[in-house]
Amino acid sequence: MKPSDKALVPFVSVDHMMQLIHHIGLEKMLIGLAEYIEADFRRWELFDKTPRVASHSATGVIELMPTSDGEVYGFKYVNGHPSNTQKGLQTVTAFGLLADVANGYPVLLSEMTILTALRTAATSAMVARYLAPAGADTMAMIGNGAQSEFQTMAMKAICGLKTVRLYDIDRAATAKCAANLAQAGLNVVSCSTPQQAIEGAQILTTCTADKQYATILSDNMVGPGVHINAIGGDCPGKTELAPGILHRSDIFVEYPPQTRIEGEIQQLEADHPVTEIWQVVVGAADGRTSKSQITLFDSVGFAIEDFSALRYVRDQLQGTGLFHALDLLADPDDPRDLFGMVLRAGCLPSRAC
Ligand code: NAD
Repeated sequence: MKPSDKALVPFVSVDHMMQLIHHIGLEKMLIGLAEYIEADFRRWELFDKTPRVASHSATGVIELMPTSDGEVYGFKYVNGHPSNTQKGLQTVTAFGLLADVANGYPVLLSEMTILTALRTAATSAMVARYLAPAGADTMAMIGNGAQSEFQTMAMKAICGLKTVRLYDIDRAATAKCAANLAQAGLNVVSCSTPQQAIEGAQILTTCTADKQYATILSDNMVGPGVHINAIGGDCPGKTELAPGILHRSDIFVEYPPQTRIEGEIQQLEADHPVTEIWQVVVGAADGRTSKSQITLFDSVGFAIEDFSALRYVRDQLQGTGLFHALDLLADPDDPRDLFGMVLRAGCLPSRAC
């Protein structure tokens, strides 16, 4: 039986996602994603929220990230395996789904490895707009892996970044990142130490991958007035910042119950004060209040950002044809005759059934 149109689910493949980025334009897409994320942060209280469901192993983690605004439900499947790159595999891969809450039917299935990099970068830049010092135009980008160019381009498109200073323990990663950003309209400086990378930078982004309590930034490296965008510490036992930095910073998080498990603040007492970034967005809490303040976005990635990203993709797909219509749902004409539909599928043209 040919599936009816109503049961076909649009599926955005990796190839379609790349075409969509080129169709819209990377910077325009990052700005659009940031707008959708910010809009959903403004209605934060509406959403079902839960820390993501994590399955840990010796080599990494596999997670499910669900949320709903009451009309649309979304989830993302995502992994984090820091040693994968040594085997030619990516640290992070993902796919996700939106469904109609009214009937439970999926309305979109999408690759989300690329979309996660885009939404993480868009979130970082949206948050930096509230927290980075006025006129910030230079960023240290420590960790030059898969996320790094996206992080940089979002800061350019949304915050007006002019200079990026790159550092990675693996020089090949820095060379790759510098080559990819060569035509981006940025001043790209490759550095040989993290100390050199942070020179003159008002935004310090850490985006490394290691399954340990790492010290990517030590306490003495962080001077007054900077904004730290800490991306890589996003799992129990996996952090990037020396605890001393946390004690000198005003800390902003997505969803405290998840960040206290996974973020930099897992190193602090459970009642250490943090500000939820959505409250800054709606004007209920202060962002940056002084030039000398150190602001820290302790990013772990939250389900609502993925929901916003999927919502954005669904809206942008209209009229592009950049999807496959997927026969994902069994949908018999008589909804109670699932078995009969299976029986009829066994009928060969040469045989009467
Ligand atoms: P990746 O493996 O592609 O890149 C990580 C880079 O970090 C590598 O180039 C590696 O050489 C470098 N590195 C490791 N230790 C370092 C050190 N001590 N100093 C400098 N560089 C170092 O990983 P990726 O996909 O770019 O992801 C980076 C991190 O961001 C991961 O930990 C991932 O889990 C996390 N992440 C967070 C979010 C979020 O929403 N917060 C989203 C996506 C990824």
